[in-house]
Amino acid sequence: MVDHYNRTIDYMRISVTDRCNLRCQYCMPEDIPSIPHEEILSFEEILHICRLAADLGIQKFKITGGEPFVRKGCLDFISELKKVPGVSQVTVTTNGVLLAEYMPQLREIHPDGINISLDTLRADTFHHITQRPYLPQVMEGILACVESGIKTKINSVLLRGVNDHEFFDLVNLAKEYPVDVRFIEIMPIGSGQQYEGYSRQELITLLEERYPNGVRVSEIRGNGPADYIHFPDFKGCIGFIDAIHGKFCNSCNRVRLTADGILKLCLYYQNGIDLKHMVRTGEPDDQIRKAMEQAILKKPAEHQFHMDAREGAKEMRRMSQIGG
Ligand code: SAM
Ligand code: SF4
Repeated sequence: MVDHYNRTIDYMRISVTDRCNLRCQYCMPEDIPSIPHEEILSFEEILHICRLAADLGIQKFKITGGEPFVRKGCLDFISELKKVPGVSQVTVTTNGVLLAEYMPQLREIHPDGINISLDTLRADTFHHITQRPYLPQVMEGILACVESGIKTKINSVLLRGVNDHEFFDLVNLAKEYPVDVRFIEIMPIGSGQQYEGYSRQELITLLEERYPNGVRVSEIRGNGPADYIHFPDFKGCIGFIDAIHGKFCNSCNRVRLTADGILKLCLYYQNGIDLKHMVRTGEPDDQIRKAMEQAILKKPAEHQFHMDAREGAKEMRRMSQIGG
């Protein structure tokens, strides 16, 4: 459907859990109370909402978290979501820890893409960032995913003074493997506020010094706002997503469903509509669909990360509770 600002909204990111098996410093640095199980949407409830979203023209869904694969039944859910009429694409964003273990089932379900978050190739830095020793499992997961033929992307958050010295090592993954490597600018949400990242322009300048023959790729390679560059002897592309320096709100195509059932209209704003309440109190589908449509129509024009927090408006949840 089209919102008040003439943006086509056809993409929903669904956080299926706020729990995670890593403790990334910029996302969920310590154990925090999880949303009680009874407050989390069941997979049946999420599917119900997805069917209504599909009626409104939302065809593409990203499964995220927390870590989506820590939730039992996630694979069956992905399989069911792929069968919903009107759904054209189901992709997953994961930290990759459980990927190799689940690969046999994933091969069968064959999601339309898997994005794996990887900020470092060094065991010590991985441990420093995530506070867990699972780099070998993640690397095994990435290789298994590439071999499976499922479209694989790597997402890296480059942090000044933490992992920025590995920029070219991460870039190199796109040279060696048929994967796109995308650099995501850190956003000032939750613990992310304590870190400083890089704009795409800074990274492109660095890249072009080393690899002068890059070609900007204008074809659409995903659902989102990444710009890509391809280098002649690379198997994949390098992408950049900088929500802060390169504000792309005027082409935003997405809404989010939180694990506790809030339809969230913009990453920056904390408000949304409580679909869980509507579903659980048995509101008729027409009413829920109408409420979704009204809310999406009023999707905010743009985020305000560059301004001081507006009391009551700015998102106070952590990224692990929103899904990225
Ligand atoms: N656990 C999964 C993962 O790590 O891919 C899915 C959820 S995670 C919240 C989704 C993405 O958000 C990850 O790529 C992570 O690096 C990114 N992320 C988390 N906090 C962020 C922040 N403050 N700014 C930018 N990206 C962030
Ligand atoms: Fe977990 Fe992903 Fe957040 Fe890391 S970025 S703590 S893996 S949800």
